Amino acid sequence: MKDLREKLASAGVHTLLAQFTDIHGVAKGKYVPLAHLDDLLTDGAVFSGPSIEGTGLPRTGARSEYWARGYASTAVVLPWLPGHARIVCDGWVAGEPFEACPRQVLKRACTKLAQRGWHLRTGIEPEFFLLKQEAGRWLPADDLDRLDKPSYDLKSLPRQRAFLRELELALQACGLDVLQLDHEDAHGQFEVNFGFDEAVASADHLMLFKMAAHALAESQGMVFSMMPKPFANQPGSGLHFHVSLWKGTGDDASNLFVPHAPDGAALPQAGLSPLGRQFVAGVLAHAPALCALAAPTVNSYKRLVASDVLSGTSWAPAYIAHGSNNRTALVRTLPGRFEWRLPDASANPYLATAGLIAAGLDGIERALECPPPQDVDLFALTLGEIRGRGIPLLPQSLDQALDALERDSVITAILGHELASQFLQLKRREWLDYRLQVSDWELRRYAAMF
Ligand code: GLU
Ligand code: MG
Repeated sequence: MKDLREKLASAGVHTLLAQFTDIHGVAKGKYVPLAHLDDLLTDGAVFSGPSIEGTGLPRTGARSEYWARGYASTAVVLPWLPGHARIVCDGWVAGEPFEACPRQVLKRACTKLAQRGWHLRTGIEPEFFLLKQEAGRWLPADDLDRLDKPSYDLKSLPRQRAFLRELELALQACGLDVLQLDHEDAHGQFEVNFGFDEAVASADHLMLFKMAAHALAESQGMVFSMMPKPFANQPGSGLHFHVSLWKGTGDDASNLFVPHAPDGAALPQAGLSPLGRQFVAGVLAHAPALCALAAPTVNSYKRLVASDVLSGTSWAPAYIAHGSNNRTALVRTLPGRFEWRLPDASANPYLATAGLIAAGLDGIERALECPPPQDVDLFALTLGEIRGRGIPLLPQSLDQALDALERDSVITAILGHELASQFLQLKRREWLDYRLQVSDWELRRYAAMF
């Protein structure tokens, strides 16, 4: 601790940002002067439990306090907040790991893998919008970003170069390996990719990315948005996960999703191993319940619409299917890994990954078989053809996804009783709030109609 304190002090740090993640996947925390690093890493920084959404903690007694306990290995100096270093924290209550802390939930899921000698690696790909508000309307920040087909637009990309370059440098300074930055399929929409890592580290990196992007966009007069679908007539923002399962570490690490020939030789280009296929089968079998975690908002289901009319315009999966390098399916299988295309940008990365692990492990434990791979463009099929192929649809609204989660004991078990019931309660209320609204669309359509 003394070494870390000295190292941070010599990097100009005077304050620690003790950061944890709430049930919604939102970064929370407080400032702790560097002199109190030891306290943060031993007992933690204390918060009023019921003030943090989704804890379900009482207002009085020993369990009313949420302790955010930091990990020395996560300390990074934040380039966009001079003098500050972020420390990732877990929730503790009454001296025990707090079962409803999303990061603790993911660690519990990783322990289940570790009991078999396994660990999961994920590469999380955030898509996001850069927005502004004008006369009460939300718009892309860049007025000139208006191509009919804006994917990979090299005119709009340089207009956001100042933001993207600052973001890239900030993430690199925090130890992330930034791989690519591009303009996505909607006006004002971008994607930043960074290297894959162990499941918990990847989720920590995504939270760091969100914190950096919020701060840097704001400093340039823009709003960074991870809302899944801000514009009705434009594609939404996914948060795809590239997933592989490993045994061993360092030079001994081997990817369990890589198939092997009968003579034991690895076949890295030959799709997924039998274990990988069972994992994928579990992810597909639990897709409806996973939807609640991976697409957790009312707005998420404007991205996942299954329809003859809209097919293919958004690249978002609506069908529970897998296929080799098939981006129109929910699971796109690749050599030695798969891309889980369900999650959207509003997903809590800890809870989504925990659910993914539970689903995959269930597939392995029950030796589930994958349905036949779909190698066609699913967006080109009618709904009738989709049904004819026996492909189920994803839930089409938040309440359907919550019903599926409530019924799925494998996914609720990994969340733990407290988090599952808090999640369902908060999200049911969110759905009710939404249902009680009368939208502009309804007024336009019905006000003078009858
Ligand atoms: N924006 C799409 C989605 O919502 C994904 C586009 C892509 O594949 O890059 O999932
Ligand atoms: Mg993309």
